Amino acid sequence: MLSKLQAIVGESSATDRDTVLIAYSRDASLVDTLKPDYVVRPQIIEHISEILKLANQTKTPVIVAGGRCGMGGACLPLKGGIMLDMTGINHVSASKDNMTVTVGAGCTWGNLLYQLKEQGFKPGFRGPYSGRSATVGGSVSSNSVELASAKWGQAPQGVTSLKVVLPEGDILETGSRINLNARPFNRFNCTAHITGLFCGDHSLLSVKYEVTLRMYEYPEAVEYCCFGFSTIEDAAKAFYEIQKLMIAEDMTMVCDKASIKGVIEEMADLFPDIESLFVVIIEEPSQEIASATQELCQKIAAQYNGKDLGDMFPKMYWNSKFEMITPLFKYGMWNATCHCLETYRIPEIVHNLKKTFREYNIKKKGFFSLICCMPSLNNTVSFVGHVYAKEDDQTSLQLVKEMWEEKKVDIWNYGGCPTGMVLRGTPTWRWLLHSKIHYFESKKR
Ligand SMILES: Cc1cc2nc3c(=O)[nH]c(=O)nc-3n(C[C@H](O)[C@H](O)[C@H](O)COP(=O)(O)OP(=O)(O)OC[C@H]3O[C@@H](n4cnc5c(N)ncnc54)[C@H](O)[C@@H]3O)c2cc1C
Repeated sequence: MLSKLQAIVGESSATDRDTVLIAYSRDASLVDTLKPDYVVRPQIIEHISEILKLANQTKTPVIVAGGRCGMGGACLPLKGGIMLDMTGINHVSASKDNMTVTVGAGCTWGNLLYQLKEQGFKPGFRGPYSGRSATVGGSVSSNSVELASAKWGQAPQGVTSLKVVLPEGDILETGSRINLNARPFNRFNCTAHITGLFCGDHSLLSVKYEVTLRMYEYPEAVEYCCFGFSTIEDAAKAFYEIQKLMIAEDMTMVCDKASIKGVIEEMADLFPDIESLFVVIIEEPSQEIASATQELCQKIAAQYNGKDLGDMFPKMYWNSKFEMITPLFKYGMWNATCHCLETYRIPEIVHNLKKTFREYNIKKKGFFSLICCMPSLNNTVSFVGHVYAKEDDQTSLQLVKEMWEEKKVDIWNYGGCPTGMVLRGTPTWRWLLHSKIHYFESKKR
């Protein structure tokens, strides 16, 4: 098998060396998995097609990996197989005429943002917080949510066309590329919405080779707001008012005192009465519009007793984007849920999460807990509930795991939908596991 793979991609781009396989057996989760049998780095679409044909002939499972930043083990093998490391496919080609950018699926968000900014553009969705390593293909395959989701929605929202390899090795293009004379400028055409089939498919239906996204002029003016509230109820009302107007490029709410203290300690010390805070980022083509929008946000926050906390925190947040979460790993490894819900339910969910943390004595045991939420389209928010425990402290890890075992059922029952990742153990995760096994087993048959 190794020599066949090397014949396709070249000797240095396929390996079965144990040190490499071990490195590729982890993502950003604590899921126990097996090593792949081979790691292969394709460079062109024909490589992927040939590898899938070979895998079909030999009944070998194929696992697709982007930046391997997923929080649910979705890019990891269940039983060996060939792992495709997509990060070598990372070209970026912007079309000013169409205002689209076509990127290799293995391109990271950091790389994309940098290259577009150099040319005076930006994409809509700006990537997950892991965007320094997470890839465009990985995020579109897992429906990622976060930076600039308030205005532009989740990762797949801005996709106009995909170039994918189907499980049998056939190459397919979607959107306006159903006409091979057309450029990839439009998503919805005269046929069924095929692009949508591959969004969030976790590689079950395709290997994404290229993704074409809408792009926009880089903003002339950026303004920043940060408002603090003494109750989560007031914070949620102001947040929702601003979200509904669709005037914010990005918003993030840090939902309770413990989270504020963990993320930005100085803020908690300076404003002890603040229970929740949120930031608003405004990007506009002129300073006049940006200032007027900022004023409107200030007015809305004031209506709900919001205190203006200045622009230091939102500036730090927006300018560092992908560096916001990483410092939190000083508290240990996260055990987490990311799920989306209707925005009006923010207070209910925050109280619910806090109740669970109290029942499990999370604070007394010295764990750091984080509750945040970020808006997406359709008046929804993505909820992040993290508890950090030291990876080498088995007792703590066990306790936190037990808590999430209980919590994930609760979240499912109150109507939360896992986003960007899979909520381990939920029906979605079981369904995914089942589908992958079923797919490979049907291939074997
Ligand atoms: C510090 C940190 C912060 C994070 N912040 C966020 C956040 O803000 N929002 C969020 O939604 N998530 C977040 N995540 C989770 C994760 O990073 C994102 O979901 C990210 O989009 C995953 O991209 P990736 O390239 O790492 O994909 P991987 O983890 O490599 O893969 C994810 C899934 O996509 C599939 N896949 C990957 N590439 C392809 C391809 N080319 N074709 C077909 N299928 C493919 C894989 O098989 C797997 O099922 C965070 C993770 C970390 C570690």
